[in-house]
Amino acid sequence: MNNRQLFLSHLAQTTDFPLMIEIEKAEGIYMYGPEGKEYMDLISGIGVSNVGHRHPKVLEAIQNQLDKYLHLMVYGEYVQSPQVQLAKALCETLPSHLDNVYFVNSGSEAVEGALKLAKRYTNRREIISCVNAYHGSSHGSLSVGGNEIFKRAYRPLLPGIKNVVYGSFQQLDEITENTAAFIVETIQGEAGIMVACSEYFKALRRKCDETGTLLILDEIQAGFGRTGKFWAFEHFGIVPDILVCAKGMGGGMPIGAFIANKDVMGAFKNNPLLGHITTFGGHPVSAAASLATIKVIQEEKLLEQVETKANLFKKLLVHPKIRSIHNKGLMMAVEFESFEVLKPIIDRAIENGVITDWFLFCDDAMRIAPPLIITEEEIEKACGVILEAIEGR
Ligand code: PMP
Repeated sequence: MNNRQLFLSHLAQTTDFPLMIEIEKAEGIYMYGPEGKEYMDLISGIGVSNVGHRHPKVLEAIQNQLDKYLHLMVYGEYVQSPQVQLAKALCETLPSHLDNVYFVNSGSEAVEGALKLAKRYTNRREIISCVNAYHGSSHGSLSVGGNEIFKRAYRPLLPGIKNVVYGSFQQLDEITENTAAFIVETIQGEAGIMVACSEYFKALRRKCDETGTLLILDEIQAGFGRTGKFWAFEHFGIVPDILVCAKGMGGGMPIGAFIANKDVMGAFKNNPLLGHITTFGGHPVSAAASLATIKVIQEEKLLEQVETKANLFKKLLVHPKIRSIHNKGLMMAVEFESFEVLKPIIDRAIENGVITDWFLFCDDAMRIAPPLIITEEEIEKACGVILEAIEGR
C-alpha cells in the first residue's frame, strides 16, 4: 500500500474532507510533495509555522538541546534551562504583572489549566465564554466552546458554563460576583476571524475588575505575532489576568502555556489539593525551539511587516466572487457565497501549488494565515493562483 492508502486504512479520520496532501519536506513557506511538487503554505499548519517551516535558528536550538537532554522529569520539579529561559523571555514580552508561566503540551491543555486555576483562585464555579468560540477539544475546553453542534454528543460537559455573544456589550451584565472567569479568544479564529472593538474589551476588563472575575484571553491562534503585535490584546489597550498560548509558540514543536500573576498562580500550590500536573509540559526541546522562535520574531522584525503584507493580500484579492475579507494582520478570512463555491476553489489552488482551507465554524470563508516570513513577491504569486482558481483554472 502507498502512503495515501495507508492514511485511509490506518489513520483515524477526523474530517469528511481531509486535504490529504502528502509532504516529504518543508522549508520556509514551502512544502514539497513526493515528486518534488512545490506548495506554498498559506495556513502555517493552522497558525503554527509563524516563522516558517524549519527556521534555521529554531533547528539550531533544537539540535543544541538534543545534544544535552530530552525528557528529565514531570514539569515543575527540576530546574531546566530551556524552561526557565523561555519563561523569562515570554514574561519580557508581557505586561509586568504577567510574571508566572505554566508550561503544557497543547492549546487545549493550556485552556484546561487556565480554567482550573481561575476556579481555585476565585473559589467560584461559573465560567462565561462566547458563542462560536473554539478553545480546544478536551472535555473542559470543549465545554467552554461556543458551538452546540460540536458539544451535543459529549454532554454532560462541565456544569456552570454560560455562552454570551462575542462583542456584545449588553451581555457583559451576565458577569457577576459568581463568575470565576470570562474566557474569550481575543480574535475569534474558527468563527472565521471575528474582531471585537477596543471599547468592548475595555468594558469587559472593567466588568471583570468590578466583579473580581478573572479575564482569560485565549491567544493560541492570535498570539506570537500573527496579528502584527506579539500579543493580539496589545491592539485593544487591555491586559488579561490569564493568557493562554500554544500553536505558533513552538516554531513547529508542540508546547503551550498559561501565564498569570505569581499571586494568582500561587492558588495551584496549596497541597494537598492537586493543581495541574503534566508529564511532558514544557518539553526541553520544545522550550528551546520556542525561545529561538521569540528571538526570530524579534530579530527579523517580523511584527513590523505584518500589516503591509496583510494589506497586499487585501489589495490583490479582489473578485466578484469574493464577498468580503476580514482580518487582523495575517489572520485572514476571505468570504465566498457558500462552501459549495469555496471548496472547488481551494482544491484547484492546491492542485496549482497554493494551500489554503476553511474554518471549523465558518465553511464559506477561505483561511489565509501564511508564515509571517512570506515575501511580497510570494504574496503576489499566491494571490495570482487563488484568483485563477476562482476563475475555474
Ligand atoms: N484555542 C484556539 C483559539 C485554537 O485555535 C485552538 C486550536 N485550533 C485551540 C484553542 C486548541 O489548541 P490545540 O489544538 O493545541 O489543543
